Formats: sequence, structure tokens, C-alpha cells
Amino acid sequence: MIQNHIGGQKLPAASGQTLDDIEPATDRVWTTIPDSDALDVDVAVAAAKAAQPAWAQLGVAARCDVLQQAAVLLEQRLDAFAALESRDTGKPVSLTTATDIPRAVANLRFFADLARNEPEERHAMDTHTNLTHRAPVGVVGLITPWNLPLYLLSWKLAPALAMGNAVVAKPSELTPATADALASLLEEAGLPPGVFNVVHGLGAKAGDALVRHPAVQAISFTGGTATGKMVAAAAAPMFKKLSLELGGKNPAVVFADSDLDVAVPGVARAAFTNQGQVCLCSSRILVEASIYDAFRNRLMAEVATWKHGDPGDPTVRLGSLISQDHRDKVAGYVDRAAESGARVLCGGQKQDGPGAFYPITLIDGVAQSDPIVQEEVFGPVATLQPFSDEAEALRLANDVPYGLAATVWTTDAAKAQRFSEGLETGMVWVNDWLKRDLRVPFGGMKQSGVGREGGTHSLDFYSELRNLCLENP
Ligand code: NAD
Repeated sequence: MIQNHIGGQKLPAASGQTLDDIEPATDRVWTTIPDSDALDVDVAVAAAKAAQPAWAQLGVAARCDVLQQAAVLLEQRLDAFAALESRDTGKPVSLTTATDIPRAVANLRFFADLARNEPEERHAMDTHTNLTHRAPVGVVGLITPWNLPLYLLSWKLAPALAMGNAVVAKPSELTPATADALASLLEEAGLPPGVFNVVHGLGAKAGDALVRHPAVQAISFTGGTATGKMVAAAAAPMFKKLSLELGGKNPAVVFADSDLDVAVPGVARAAFTNQGQVCLCSSRILVEASIYDAFRNRLMAEVATWKHGDPGDPTVRLGSLISQDHRDKVAGYVDRAAESGARVLCGGQKQDGPGAFYPITLIDGVAQSDPIVQEEVFGPVATLQPFSDEAEALRLANDVPYGLAATVWTTDAAKAQRFSEGLETGMVWVNDWLKRDLRVPFGGMKQSGVGREGGTHSLDFYSELRNLCLENP
């Protein structure tokens, strides 16, 4: 049974109500979480508010020592956390071992180093000197999705704590386990009780109460665009700092001059890692017409080599989707596309038996206006569309409401830069995908979000930048 983590204590919801946590690969209830409401959020925010001043007064170096120690402990327990994350999400343990948990370790280390080493900014004048001073925001609310639970929570939490804030987190109700384990680990690493609190429960209840709480001064939200709109509508009139990392419908643009030995496995990885449930996944594959058939055939052969099945099997590359409901949504998009004349090249059938498994599915013969091209499906489903020249590729790539990320596959460096500059996305990778440097800005354009996190952008969000114009001695 997972409990809320408030003021260093494991507590049930005040109402006593619980929600089942289902293991996606087996459909079995494997634990429960508190079905928290505004009362529980109130208690957690009060604990955070009480703990924050002393945490801030510790100073940046001591705070970063705690984050570094947490990174050491998390790295020591990598296998246990990877198994927990895999079980809770249905994603392959090979992925949580190679990516999710190491990335959480890296987040803790990176932001500790960055905050500790940040140079002091001073601007001298004739009689005075301006000192740029970072103050904590206060109590920060972090709301995270199910697709990368610890990876994304630690991405927000590390800079928030480094800057001297106290935090109340509301993880996805579908994937509560590693947030709970992290809360205990952080206190073992020396984090004072109350500085990091976790409230579990439904978004519309616990999440909404956190967004609306008057003592929570900033909200960092990662999730779907529709939810992001609700969060923005609730938070904006209260003038909270708000960071919104939302959905994507990301193109992979494959030019005829690309190296197919790189592009074929690269596009497959970009489209289907984590069962296509990464906001950055390339779900629209645009291919120059002269190589369309060759690329499509090679891509189909490549994805046929991916082993599907039990996420606990270290050789499996495609595990379970997050839930039966989500699988039905994904399958519905594919079925409707097929009914309206699209061609399902592979996959496209729900698998029998327990678990929310759905195969890698490639589709062509789609129109740009089709829902499967315009809307985020968030599953192992990608469309293929041919283009005749650079201008058409750019038009197709940009003709969606989203603008999160893109990949471009070409051996022509000048074209790569020119084309990347024309793309309406927050991030572009050329001949690679998800090559992450934690110093760089991360965020989306259009309906993919507002604001940037990453590197000093995160420090800016999780602090109040102030100017102190001090008289020279
Ligand atoms: P979601 O929007 O359903 O839920 C995200 C979180 O918000 C959950 O914790 C949920 O409980 C909470 N929530 C729901 N309603 C709320 C409300 N009214 N007020 C406050 N909180 C509420 O998203 P999801 O299905 O968990 O995650 C998948 C989505 O996340 C996809 O759209 C994906 O693209 C997006 N995502 C974006 C990024 C990014 O960096 N841009 C990264 C990962 C995932």
C-alpha cells in the first residue's frame, strides 16, 4: 500500500479512500494509493511552507550536498528502482535500467553542480553595483505524467530543491511507485522532512487542489495539452509562475540523401521507444518520394526485429501500454484511420490475453487532415507520408497544432540547418533522437507548451530573479 509522504510521514488520505494501482502488463491490482483531495493537499502545503525557510537558509552548497547524496543512493539502488518503474508503467526493464533511472540520477547530479557553480552576476555602475540575486519562489507544485515518472519528476524536483524551495508533488495516479520511493530516499540522503511532499490521487481532485492552493506560488506541469489548458486557466488568475510541458505530434523528416543505415534504426527508435509513449516520439514519418518504397520496406523489416512482450524480460524492446483504456484509445485511432481508407502496413490488432499490449503499427495512405496525423495518439503507431521537395516537407511537418520536437535525417549539413531553422518545434535532432544535454532549453512551441526548462532556464523558473542595486562601499 502506497501512502502520501507529508512532513516526513507516510499518511493515508484524510477521507480514508484509496485507488487501485494496476500493473499494466498483467491487469492485476498490485497496490493502492490514497485518493487524496483538497484536505490532504492543504496538509502537504502546510508542511512544505513550514519546512521551506530553514531549507533555504541552509545555503546552496549544503542543499546541493543533499542532492548529490541522493544521486549516490539512487545509483546504488538503480536495479530496484528500474524494476519498480517497469512494473508500474509496463515499459521494458531494459529501458528503465538504461534510461529512466540513470537519467533521474543525472538530473540530481546535474542541477546540484549547476546551482553550486553558478557564477555571481554583478553589473558595476559609478556609485553602485547591481547584484543579481536568486530568491526561492517558496512552495512549488509539481504535476507529472505516467510515461516517464521518475525521469520527469527528478527533472523538476532537482532544480526546485537546489533553489531553496519546498515541493508538493502530485505524480500520475497510474504510476505512483517511484515518487514514493524517492521521497524516502531523499530523507535518507539528508533532506529535512517537509521539504519534499508527495500527494497521490486523481488529477481533477488532488492535482486541481494543488494548482489552486493559494500558498503554492509556482506550478510546473507536464502532461496532455487538454489538461494543460485547465491548469493554465486555474493558475493564471492567481499570477502563479507556470511552466507547461505538453503534448506533441512530432515529424521525422527523411531526405533521399540520408544514410539509411542510420536513419532506419534511428527513426524506429524515435517512433517506438517506450511504446511510442514519449512526448518527443516521432509519430509522423515524412519520406522523400524517391526513396519512399525502399525506406518503408526497410523500416518494416527493422521494427519486425523488435521483441514484444513481458516488460520484465531484459531482451524485450516493446512492453505494455499504460492501461487498457489508453490501448483502446490508441486502437481506436488506428481502426478509424483504416475505415477511412488508410493502409495498415504492420500491427494494428489488439493482442489477446492480459495486459495492455499493442504491436508496432505503421500506416500509410493518410491525408494531412486525418485525426491520426493531426492528433497525439501516444502509442506505438506512426504514419508514413511521401514528400516531393524541401518546401513540401516543411509544409507537412509544420501543419499540425503541436510544436514540440522533430528529427531530420540527411547527410547535407547545410540543408539540415536550413530545414531545422524552418521547423516550428522547440527542439530538432539531426541524424539522432533524444540526444540530451541537460544544459539546453527544453520546451515546446504552439500547443506543446509554454516556457522552457533545462539548465539555467530551470534555475530561472524555480527562483525569483531579483536585482539589488547596492551602494559601493
Ligand atoms: P495527463 O494530462 O492526463 O496527466 C498529467 C498529470 O496531470 C497527472 O498527474 C494527472 O493526474 C494530472 N491532472 C489531470 N487533470 C488535472 C487537473 N485538472 N488539474 C491538475 N492536474 C491534473 O497526461 P498523461 O496522460 O499522464 O501523460 C501523457 C501526456 O503527457 C501526453 O500528452 C504527453 O505528450 C505529455 N508529456 C509531455 C512532455 C513534455 O515534456 N512536453 C513529457 C512527457 C509527457
